[in-house]
Amino acid sequence: ISLGYIGLYEVASVFYGGEWEANPAAKDFTVDIIRQMKQLCEDWSDAYDYHFSVYSTPSESLTDRFCRLDKAKFGEVENITDKDYYTNSFHYDVRKNPTPFEKLDFEKIYPEAGASGGFIHYCEYPVLQQNPKALEAVWDYAYDRVGYLGTNTPIDHCYECHFEGDFEPTERGFKCPNCGNTDPKTVDVVKRTCGYLGNPQARPMVHGRHQEIAARVKHMNGSTIYNPGQA
Ligand SMILES: [Zn+2]
Repeated sequence: ISLGYIGLYEVASVFYGGEWEANPAAKDFTVDIIRQMKQLCEDWSDAYDYHFSVYSTPSESLTDRFCRLDKAKFGEVENITDKDYYTNSFHYDVRKNPTPFEKLDFEKIYPEAGASGGFIHYCEYPVLQQNPKALEAVWDYAYDRVGYLGTNTPIDHCYECHFEGDFEPTERGFKCPNCGNTDPKTVDVVKRTCGYLGNPQARPMVHGRHQEIAARVKHMNGSTIYNPGQA
């Protein structure tokens, strides 16, 4: 049985502002929250004789719902309800671009502190077909530090113009940046919805999740188009 949570970034932003990542007091505050949730789970495990765990839930739709409910109650709050989504679990603010190494160093303490009932770290990359060593460097670094790592690279495909790379977010979904194609029958769009990969053009996401994916920035510089000459 799990206790799920999302939005550590937003909680700390309430007390320390939206740029709190380098503030040790703010970081300790967020780790304390995880530790307290872990303690609750241990207390419940003792009391009920079932195993309880702290679950960094994928929040596929809660990212939208919780933010919407808070916006109705508290209005538009900068860095919190103004984004239309809440940040997944303990993840680094998706709008910022630490290096993959900085991101992993920042996030690794949360599963250690107790959020170990299900979680993922991931980094966003440009096309790295020509530079697999860059991916290997991150994987080697991650191996001794985190329990689960996702690698997000552009793999969208347009069957009209044969573009391959990252599709562009639009109001309602994603479009081919080369020819504007949005037809789910002739595009293949794959994004990491949360822990798993989804096809948002075939199965649209809730508004908040779409906004969150559209807000993500890469953690490494480079092209987001395969074979730029051919597209
Ligand atoms: Zn196209």
